[in-house]
Amino acid sequence: MTDPHMPAILALDQVLPTYAHIVQFDTLRYLLGAGIVFLLVNVVLARWLEGRKIRVKSPTATQMRREVFTSLRTVLVFSFFGTTIWALREIGLIDVYWEASERGWAYFAFNLVALIVLHDAWFYWTHRIIHDPRLFRRFHRTHHKSHNPSPWTAYSFDISEAAINAVYLPLVLIIMPSSPLAIFLFLWHMMFRNALGHCGYEIFPSLRSGRPAMDWMTSVTHHDLHHAQSGWNYGLYFTWWDRMMETEHPLYHEKFAQAVRKPLDGSAVGARRPGVA
Ligand SMILES: [Zn+2]
Ligand SMILES: [Zn+2]
Repeated sequence: MTDPHMPAILALDQVLPTYAHIVQFDTLRYLLGAGIVFLLVNVVLARWLEGRKIRVKSPTATQMRREVFTSLRTVLVFSFFGTTIWALREIGLIDVYWEASERGWAYFAFNLVALIVLHDAWFYWTHRIIHDPRLFRRFHRTHHKSHNPSPWTAYSFDISEAAINAVYLPLVLIIMPSSPLAIFLFLWHMMFRNALGHCGYEIFPSLRSGRPAMDWMTSVTHHDLHHAQSGWNYGLYFTWWDRMMETEHPLYHEKFAQAVRKPLDGSAVGARRPGVA
């Protein structure tokens, strides 16, 4: 390990082993993250959650196989950028210090929250851009092949979209000193939120009024609507960008209330059966 305070010469013979190591970690993160959500929500608790299923139909096995394949391709791209982070640290451009407590736990909390909030902004705007008809086919078509998503859709991206997503981390780490623990938690949070957002069951808590209990967070219905009718709901973790930019689906709260089988604001929501599209 090089001294973080001294610029070091990049050890080229370490590049490939580092890449291989990151591929292992990221493959595990995807398979465990998407796998745990799939097993828990879509298999073990599926019956219990039946009353919160968003669509009538479930994703097919063929679709899920394709999603796993394209997501593992994404892992290779993510790992390339992970290796870039390692290389930038080796040459002293990134300050990834090794003790989370080194700058105090207040900074650690700020660090983690900032990584997530900035990633949400990055995702919203890049996501909106790649929905431009001139870019959609080249950048975002693979993800939207999953019209009815599953947890395995989480990283089902075109290579170009995977690169746009992954470049966020080295960029933000150049401007924000971060601890490996904050980065680790950020990555696992991203994985789980992504898998949950595609799981097809509204697992977020609701109020008696039929509204989301945490309306500032994107729910499963929020992102499910994006797959059902793209052109709305570009946000990843939070709803504030969609609300500020008026891109939230006008029927979002109605669809959420339908998904949790509650009347919206005390009024009847009509058919209380699943079915977003
Ligand atoms: Zn999209
Ligand atoms: Zn999606």
